[in-house]
Amino acid sequence: MEKNMHKALYRIYRPTSFIDIVGQEQIISILKNQISEGSVSHAYLFSGGRGTGKTSTAKVFAKAVNCIDPVNQEPCHKCSVCVQGDMDIIEIDAASNNSVDNIRELRENVVYTPSYGKYKVYIIDEVHMLSQGAFNALLKTLEEPPSHVIFILATTEPQKIPATVLSRCQRFDFKKIDKNQIIARMIKILDELGLTYEEEAIELIAQKSDGGMRDALSLLDQAIAYKELTYQNVVHVIGELDYREFHGFVKGIKEKTTVTLLENLQKIEAQGKDLKVFTRDFISYTRDMMVCKSGASQLLSHSGDEIEALEESAALVDMDFIINLIETLSDLEVKIKYATKPKILIEACFIRLTKLTQMISSSSEAATLPQIEELSRKIDELELKISNLEKGVQKPKEKVIQYQEEKKAKAAMPYIDDVRLQANIDDSEKQKLEEVKARMTQVHEVLRKQKNVHLKALLMEGEPVRYVNDCIYIGYDDNFAFHKQTIETQINADHISQALTKVFDKPLKVAFIFKREMGNIKKDEIDEEKNIIEEIKQAFPDVPLEIRERED
Ligand SMILES: [Zn+2]
Repeated sequence: MEKNMHKALYRIYRPTSFIDIVGQEQIISILKNQISEGSVSHAYLFSGGRGTGKTSTAKVFAKAVNCIDPVNQEPCHKCSVCVQGDMDIIEIDAASNNSVDNIRELRENVVYTPSYGKYKVYIIDEVHMLSQGAFNALLKTLEEPPSHVIFILATTEPQKIPATVLSRCQRFDFKKIDKNQIIARMIKILDELGLTYEEEAIELIAQKSDGGMRDALSLLDQAIAYKELTYQNVVHVIGELDYREFHGFVKGIKEKTTVTLLENLQKIEAQGKDLKVFTRDFISYTRDMMVCKSGASQLLSHSGDEIEALEESAALVDMDFIINLIETLSDLEVKIKYATKPKILIEACFIRLTKLTQMISSSSEAATLPQIEELSRKIDELELKISNLEKGVQKPKEKVIQYQEEKKAKAAMPYIDDVRLQANIDDSEKQKLEEVKARMTQVHEVLRKQKNVHLKALLMEGEPVRYVNDCIYIGYDDNFAFHKQTIETQINADHISQALTKVFDKPLKVAFIFKREMGNIKKDEIDEEKNIIEEIKQAFPDVPLEIRERED
C-alpha cells in the first residue's frame, strides 16, 4: 500500500447504514421507529464516550430521514436524494467553530429550505466547546426551529451543555461498545483485508480501546502496518511497558530517587510511548500490587514474570503506601486527560510522591503535619497553574506583572509564530480588545502631549487586532506597509508601550503586524511553562529538573 494512498481504517469502515453501527441497538431501534412513524424530533443530543458511534449514527440518520425509498428505514443509497443530497447534511465541528459569529451564520442559513430532501440536518460535533454566546444564539434557533431543520448535537461531555439547550433536545446516551462486539468487528475487517492475526493481539486492542470503536480501529490500523497482526506488534504500538519497568518506578518512589525517576520517565517519552497510556497502565499495576499485598495474587491473570515483579513491588512497601500511590495516580489521570504536555504533570506528581514519602517516613528529620500540609498545598497550587496553562485561562494578576518585568528585562520582542493556528480569538480576548479600542484615543493623547505627533499619526493608521499575553498587536492593512515599516523600531515600540501602560495602568507590550497575520499570534505558553518549572525548582531546590524540548 502506497503511503500517500493510505486511508484510515475507521474512515474506510465508517458505517453507511444503521446495520453497520455496532453496540447501540436500542438507540437505533428508537430512531428507526421515528422514521417509520414520521415522528422525528427537531433537536437531538447524542452523548457518550469517544468512538461510540455518535457521529456515525447522526450521519446515517440524516440520510435515512431524507431517503425517498428507505428499505427497513435504512437509506437505500440509490435514490436521487441518497446520491446527491449530501449538501443538505451540514457538519459543524464546534471545537473550531465555536464563536457567536459561527452560530449567527448558521441561524441565517437555516431559513433556506433543503435542496434535495425533506430535511436539512445540522450535525454539531463536540457541541460542549461552543462559547456561552454561541450557545445563547443556538438556543434561539432551537426554540423555534423551522420545520425543515433537524439539529443533532454530539458531545462527550453533556454536563457542559446549558440546561436551557438540553431541555430542547431529545437525548440519547451512547454506551461504551461491548468488548466482544469490538473484537467481532475487527475480525470481520481483517477477514475482508485477507490478513491473519493472533487472537491475543485482537483481545489486547479491544481491551485498550475502552469501548471506543474508533480507538480500536486506529490501533488496529497502526498494528497492521507491520503486515502481521501479532501480540508483540500491538504491544509495541500501545507502548505497554515491561512490568520490570513499573517495578522500577515503585522502587524509585519508595527510595526517593527522584532524579532516576525523572530520567526514566524521559526515556519512556523518548521511546515514543504515550504518557497517558503509561499513567493508566501504572495505575493498573498499582491496583494489582494491592491484590498481591492482600495475598490474592492467584486471582490475577498475568504471566509468571509479571506476577514476580508485582510481588517484589508489593513486598517493598506497606498497604498505606500502595493506597496513597493509587489515589495520587488516579488524580493525575484526571489532570492529564486533556493536557497537551502531560509530562510536566507526571513529573510534579512523582516529586509529590517522593517528597511526601520522605517526610512521612524519615525519622531523623521528622516533619510536622502542618509542614506536610504546606508542601501539599504548594504542589496543588503548582498543578493548578500547569493545568490552567493547558486550558489557556487567564493567569493571576501578580503573576502577570512579575512575568512582564522579566520579559522587559530581557527586552524580548513578542513571539510571533507565522505558521501555526488560525485566528482563534476567544470571548475574553475579544472583550479586552474592545476595551483597548475604546481607549486608544487616550493613548494617542498621551503621545500628542509628549510631542510624538508623527508616531501618533503612524499608530492611527493601524488598529488593535490581537491581545495576547499582555501584548497588544496593532494590525495594518497591506497598503499601509510603509506605516508599519516605519513604526516598528524598538524606540517607537517602547514609547507606545509606555503610553499603553500609562493609560491601562498595567505593563503592556506592543507589536506591529499585517492584519492578515493576526491568526498567527499564539499564546506564549512556552515561556510561561518555563516560569512554572522555575517555581518547581524553587520549591524543591535539591531536585535537578531538566527541561528538554520534545521532538514532534
Ligand atoms: Zn435513498
